Amino acid sequence: MDTRNQQSKEPRQLIYRKQAEQIIGHLQRQGMEGFYFDNALPAVEAVCSMIPAGSLVGLGGSVTVIETGLIEALRKQDIRLLDRFRDGVTVEEVDAMRHESMLADVFIASSNAITLDGKLVNMDGMGNRVAAMIYGPKKVILVLGMNKVVPTVMEAITRIKTTAAPMNAVRVNKQTPCFVTGLCQDPKCTPPNRICGQLVVIEASMTNDRIKVVMIGEEYGF
Ligand code: SF4
Repeated sequence: MDTRNQQSKEPRQLIYRKQAEQIIGHLQRQGMEGFYFDNALPAVEAVCSMIPAGSLVGLGGSVTVIETGLIEALRKQDIRLLDRFRDGVTVEEVDAMRHESMLADVFIASSNAITLDGKLVNMDGMGNRVAAMIYGPKKVILVLGMNKVVPTVMEAITRIKTTAAPMNAVRVNKQTPCFVTGLCQDPKCTPPNRICGQLVVIEASMTNDRIKVVMIGEEYGF
């Protein structure tokens, strides 16, 4: 590895570890379980080990699941994967998978943001991802890079409106006002070209350890 690259990585990873330690403590107090890994490979292995063989596994729309290599690893598991990312999948098939995911054994997604006190902040267009996070699947695994960590819920919303939503609009080629102008135009932004429709803040889980948060000390997703 390039020495300069390594030197610039080390302070960041040290801070990421400290932040993750704090977040894991808050998650634990609120009925959720947190994990931290310096890089994607052990994180992907940990996620796969959390899924019992034969499980029906649903996926939320997520760049992180692809960038970390998790999707490739999941495809090799002995599970029934609702693979919305596979080549040639149709709009109708993805829509059916969204519904089926609501009753999956395991639901895997990322999170738009997480606060230092362990609050998971997400905004959806359709709402299927945030709905499955809250209720339905028996287990929820959220995988996120430490670039998604913010101090407060307000800053999480700002992050979503200035980074996550515009970038996702570009990714799915949705003609949102932020895609067209580069800036959020709420309240002028309306359906069907609005991907911020539901704001969900998960502060706690009544079912202990149903939600598992896997943090990675690298940057993934938007
Ligand atoms: S313009 Fe619309 S889709 Fe874009 S960030 Fe604002 S509310 Fe969300």
